[in-house]
Amino acid sequence: MQPGPRCLPAARLAAFAAALGLGRASAVVADTVVLKSGRAIEAEGAWYESSEVRYQKDGAVYVLPRDMVDRIESPTGEAGLDPDILRSRERLAAKDPGEALRHARLALFRDPRSVPALQALAAAQLALGDPNRASESATQALRLDEANPRSRALLDEALTALGQREQGASDAQFRIRYEGSVNQPIGMAVLKILTEAHAEYATRLGFRPEQSVTVVLQTGASFRDTTRAPDWADGWNDGTIQVPVLGLDAPNPRLVRILRHELAHSFVASRTGNNCPVWLHEGVAQWLEGGEPDRDDALLAPLARAGRLPSLLTLEGPFRGLSEAQATNAYATSLAAVAHILRLRGEAGLLRLLAALSDRLPSDDALPVALGLSYSELQKGLADHLRTADAKPATARVSAAR
Ligand SMILES: [Zn+2]
Repeated sequence: MQPGPRCLPAARLAAFAAALGLGRASAVVADTVVLKSGRAIEAEGAWYESSEVRYQKDGAVYVLPRDMVDRIESPTGEAGLDPDILRSRERLAAKDPGEALRHARLALFRDPRSVPALQALAAAQLALGDPNRASESATQALRLDEANPRSRALLDEALTALGQREQGASDAQFRIRYEGSVNQPIGMAVLKILTEAHAEYATRLGFRPEQSVTVVLQTGASFRDTTRAPDWADGWNDGTIQVPVLGLDAPNPRLVRILRHELAHSFVASRTGNNCPVWLHEGVAQWLEGGEPDRDDALLAPLARAGRLPSLLTLEGPFRGLSEAQATNAYATSLAAVAHILRLRGEAGLLRLLAALSDRLPSDDALPVALGLSYSELQKGLADHLRTADAKPATARVSAAR
């Protein structure tokens, strides 16, 4: 049985502070020792000391066996801090994280639900170079007090350090943030997926973003309330990757695809700045997210035969304002165009195109330079290919992240 923590009513605290003469600027801080019997002893100060609880009252120090005491309460939350928490902080400040850890553990042993003790532990673990355990401690603290900014900062620090370690780099490739409540297992799993994809893309593409990529995991608020994403978007990347993970305990294949897709955008953006047609951005992202690059070709065949294939020139600008049906065709055409480039010129051709765009060439110059094709030749070749694309067995279609 675990009785929930109970707060002293403010009026009672004020009355007892007044009774103790603890007015305004008094240096004496009042604690309350709550016994298991329910009786409360109001003291000038109370603390744990090995198997005892000691408290000071009217200038004298009294001792109680620990097992008589349920808890120590303090009006500030700080004053009644277990002395081991204070010692842990002192040792940490004195660059002695080993001792800081020991004191934090002692405090935690006495009160496993103490947020300051968990924070002291996380801080010591970080200082000892153990971000894994530090992230667990900070997560535990956040479970007890979700809004605590100190716990949140410790978790951020731990996840950043973990990212650096996995990447073996001095700069973090990723910074994971939460919007809503913290979900540490998802955060760790996301970091792993992203780190692997990052390494894969860097090898395949031959470049990597210089800046670390910030990833916001939306664990609470509705995704669409906090992004400008249209209704049909699964993820969002406006320099910061935003992904809804509400209700997920573990990554599913869809989340993996969304993460890979959005990270691909970060790579393309880092290479080309804003000098990349949206169809190429989206085509590359869908290609890198996984699955066959020609997976949507058959879907586009009827459009191509009817001469209603969206033109790549009109897909140079943002897809944001499109209806869901228009967006479906726009994404499929983008992927089909990249598949067509890969078919004609291979990955090397696609990389030449990105390199030409990174040299600030406009797209209608970059295409002939990199692929030996004008915009209209690419468009015509694509349409010709797609007209018969539903004649052969379709590659299994995967619902794509955007
Ligand atoms: Zn996208």
